[in-house]
Amino acid sequence: MAATPPLYDTYLRAPLRFERGEGVWLISEDGTRYLDFAAGVAVNSLGHAHPHLVEALKAQAEKLWHVSNLYDVPGQESLARRLTAVTFADRVFFTNSGAEALECAIKTARRYHFAKGHPERFHVITFEGAFHGRTIATIAAGGQQKYIEGFGPKAPGFYQVPFGDIAAVKSAINDETAAILIEPIQGEGGVRLAPKEFLQELRALCDEFGLLLILDEVQCGVGRTGKLFAHEWAGIRPDIMAVAKGIGGGFPLGACLATEAAAAGMVAGTHGSTYGGNPLAMAVGNAVLDVVLAEGFLDNVREVALLFRQGLASLKDRFPDIIEELRGDGLMLGIKAKVPSPDLLKAIRAEKLLVVPAGENVLRLLPPLIVTAAEAREGLARLERAAEAVRAGGGTAAA
Ligand SMILES: *Cc1c(COP(=O)(O)O)cnc(C)c1O
Repeated sequence: MAATPPLYDTYLRAPLRFERGEGVWLISEDGTRYLDFAAGVAVNSLGHAHPHLVEALKAQAEKLWHVSNLYDVPGQESLARRLTAVTFADRVFFTNSGAEALECAIKTARRYHFAKGHPERFHVITFEGAFHGRTIATIAAGGQQKYIEGFGPKAPGFYQVPFGDIAAVKSAINDETAAILIEPIQGEGGVRLAPKEFLQELRALCDEFGLLLILDEVQCGVGRTGKLFAHEWAGIRPDIMAVAKGIGGGFPLGACLATEAAAAGMVAGTHGSTYGGNPLAMAVGNAVLDVVLAEGFLDNVREVALLFRQGLASLKDRFPDIIEELRGDGLMLGIKAKVPSPDLLKAIRAEKLLVVPAGENVLRLLPPLIVTAAEAREGLARLERAAEAVRAGGGTAAA
């Protein structure tokens, strides 16, 4: 008699089981090597088993795992100081995940207006196609019906407008608006890039109406676009920013960053987390920054990204029947497929290359930031073989 599966059925998992990883490679239980351009959905920013991260985690594990935020936590101040030194921010709150970083960002924005005597200003304008996490508040912020349905009334105070539509943003602003929340590059939504001018216009609107600009850089941040944070390309500064995924390189770590002014309402007792900023996460986060902030690292990301992008453009030219459009920036790239993307995904996986599905029939390519030119070329060769296989199969599901 088959036993009932012990796990929730919430995930649509691929039938793969990995045992270990080395750099950009994942090795399955049967010894098959996969080129990992999924990187745990942009989490394994430095690939698998990076020696510096392994060393940092081991060294901390031998000293102290947890003390709680009743005390100063080893590594918290130093990591926060390093983050504020290289960003717009003055203050940092550490979390364990992206959704928690967003929760902190939303609470920070609401408290800002509350502290100024405007508790009625708690509404946040967000964008269609957004993804901000799976908590009760962040599913409301993301606004996707498929994530909201069946979980009771949608949390109040979130209004979606079309991505990139400045007139719609403007007309959504009223006396109750607290903030605008946007991903500079939508990940789950289909690798949709917010134009620079759009981000600049949002900044101007926030200044004009006294709103806070919140950026969700959980996926596009920490070097993924070839700058430390994606908004730097637009030359703007947010008031609040949520970070996670790549900052922990695979260890659960998130952060909410804010300016001194934006964080003004977050006084003692207003927020907290048992594990947020624990010593293990701080050790790994600091180790990730050692690597990402090292001289030349981001230059290298930009160089490999350019080569990869050129290779993809050439593939698109040769396979216009398979690839409709290329999206994204840096090492956060999307292939909008002309065929059903699950068919292309299947063919890519058959070539032992891992990528991530996204909305709008897009496949995301999110290689670890340590990917070399040779590894990028290997990925392109596998993509080409996959495209050929799909073409040979007539563009329909090949097995
Ligand atoms: C993954 C993601 C989140 C949620 O992060 P979790 O760690 O899964 O809670 C939020 N925003 C964006 C843009 C993401 O990609």
